[in-house]
Amino acid sequence: MLMRAASAERLHHAYLIVGPTGVGKRDFAERLSHALLCSEPAENAPCGKCPRCALNTAGTHPDLTRLEWIDKARVISVDQIRKLTEQLTLTTTYGPNRIAIINKAHTMTRAAANSLLKTLEEPGKGCVLILLADNDAHLPVTIRSRCQRVVLPLPDPSVALEWLREQKVSNPEIALEFAHGAPLRAKERGEEVDLGAIAEVKNRFIEFLTLDFEPAELAATTSTVLGTRDALTLFLQWTTEHIKNVEFSSPTGRSSTNGPPAERQYLSRALERFQYSLRLDNPSLKTQTVLEGVLADIRIMRVRTRAETIQ
Ligand SMILES: [Zn+2]
Repeated sequence: MLMRAASAERLHHAYLIVGPTGVGKRDFAERLSHALLCSEPAENAPCGKCPRCALNTAGTHPDLTRLEWIDKARVISVDQIRKLTEQLTLTTTYGPNRIAIINKAHTMTRAAANSLLKTLEEPGKGCVLILLADNDAHLPVTIRSRCQRVVLPLPDPSVALEWLREQKVSNPEIALEFAHGAPLRAKERGEEVDLGAIAEVKNRFIEFLTLDFEPAELAATTSTVLGTRDALTLFLQWTTEHIKNVEFSSPTGRSSTNGPPAERQYLSRALERFQYSLRLDNPSLKTQTVLEGVLADIRIMRVRTRAETIQ
């Protein structure tokens, strides 16, 4: 769609590409820019052979500017935007387009956003701004309204899994769960953590939910591979998945007439407990201590719910 707009010379001067972390926004923006700057793009892709493509491959094309966080700033500053704005007023080296990619645009400071607004209102000839944002709700509406929005949704899990297998990621299913379905993030996480160990934690967690696996033991095993936030997020996800997968009936064989079956009620209470601890998220507490507390509470819920059902 974007390449068609380009060949019809109807390219918008600003695009806002929105999608979750690790879905591939930056790769998409790079590829789009390379195709737009290539002298003979074929089938919407850069030819990869012309001198301009060579510059892009080397990351030195003078008509493409990238804005990133400097070090670990966690914001895009007004100075960065001012410098970019100046560059955009220069004439292009190869023409007709001069492109700027602003990564993590949702982290622009207020002053940075105001400064960018001027460029968005009066873009130079051939300027194409590509803003990338995990969540565009953090961007001022004045910026959003001046950009054409392109949404990059999460791919279908089967497609993401196939890609992860091609990338030789071990335990691709766990990696994808861990990255909330975003394939690039999943690959990255696969390099950071021991996915095999997490798969093992998952087995024990499901045992814990259904049988009588010791909370302290589960907390200890989990805290050797995961931090508090990651562990609680995965517990939450696995419980949700478990609720979907399991057919519920009461231990007496009769289905409950008052509200949801007891087992389901216990599991949704467990979900609430995980959400609650995620909100608290006290970084000064040790992961093992936090998990042990949460899991012990959930075990009590399970024991009580089952005892009530049998009565
Ligand atoms: Zn080319």
